[in-house]
Amino acid sequence: MTVNSGRAVFLTEYPDGLPKPGSFVVREVDIPHLKESEVLLRTKWMSVDPYMRGRMNPNVKSYVPPFTLDAPLDGGAVSEVVESRAIEFNPGDHVVSMQGGWKEYSIAKPRALTKVEPDQAPLSSYLGVLGMPGMTAWAGLTQILEPKGGETLFVSGAGGAVGSLVCQLGKQMGLRVIGSAGSAQKCSWLKQTIGCDIAINYKDYPSASELSNALAEAAPDGIHCYFENVGGDHLQAALQNIAIGGRIALCGLIAQYNAQEPVTGPTNLANLITRSVKVQGFIVAQYAHLRKQFLGSVAPLLESGDISAREEIYEGLDQAGAAFLGLFSGENTGKALVRMAG
Ligand code: NDP
Repeated sequence: MTVNSGRAVFLTEYPDGLPKPGSFVVREVDIPHLKESEVLLRTKWMSVDPYMRGRMNPNVKSYVPPFTLDAPLDGGAVSEVVESRAIEFNPGDHVVSMQGGWKEYSIAKPRALTKVEPDQAPLSSYLGVLGMPGMTAWAGLTQILEPKGGETLFVSGAGGAVGSLVCQLGKQMGLRVIGSAGSAQKCSWLKQTIGCDIAINYKDYPSASELSNALAEAAPDGIHCYFENVGGDHLQAALQNIAIGGRIALCGLIAQYNAQEPVTGPTNLANLITRSVKVQGFIVAQYAHLRKQFLGSVAPLLESGDISAREEIYEGLDQAGAAFLGLFSGENTGKALVRMAG
């Protein structure tokens, strides 16, 4: 199959604060001929993830380099091999890559690809519950929080890709689970489908002290484990209610990703000392060596229907910018994904 060009999303600017719909533009780009040991991929599903906002800041040093304005964006994707000059892959194979996102076609080397089987799980799940967000949930819970049965787990951002799996795995481990999310609909879903014992709509509690009071009511004996996806008032409220010997997995701080001014930290950090709390930040890639163990525990739960993996699906590359922006207005329940046409 010969492909000479394809559509791809570019940033038009480095956003200051929340990106705008006009911060993204779709352009036609040339697809070069394959070199030896390369494969041509056609994207079937692409992921939008909060960490991509960090890559839109040109001067911030992070674990992934910033995007540039003169090249298409990239990100996680499930793609089909359409042409191969590498012995490892044949046309028709399906692969996960970190570069196939935001574009119709990409060229990759085999070492950057993980083969996945469409008959084992839905292809989209390799970007969600069986992919990077799922691994994040599993690693933060099992490798950092290390909960014991009967403990209370608080999960912020509980309605999203990472948080909703943390809650469900927490229930599987015999924990009392409190989730917070930003709408009544998400809270109903957290209680009815995800199995949270208590769901807090944080928008009903617009200050840290109000959120803290709601949490105190939900967890009268304190929170033993806190899975942090949000930051800001959530962190302040969690620190106010953390139990002696509590653990905090610092996974994400989405409330500050679009901040235009330096963000003030919590004022109650001293509770970490007086209550002997362990706090650990982490990047999911640090646990890549445990991928088999992660899949071994989560894939059977997905197959048996013991966990739910809801997806918020946007249709077509033209919706990719909107899908990304939706992460910051809470439009997604579960994993936000873009299904590519064709
Ligand atoms: P989600 O699917 O949870 O989507 C983001 C959600 O965050 C939104 O749906 C919204 O839900 C909530 N949100 C957005 N802005 C705010 C705000 N200002 N205050 C409170 N909630 C807000 O995303 P992911 O599951 O992919 O990621 C969750 C977190 O995990 C992020 O912080 C992300 O950066 C982090 N992460 C970290 C990784 C790591 O290796 N450390 C890897 C992957 C993710 P709502 O309606 O509830 O407001």
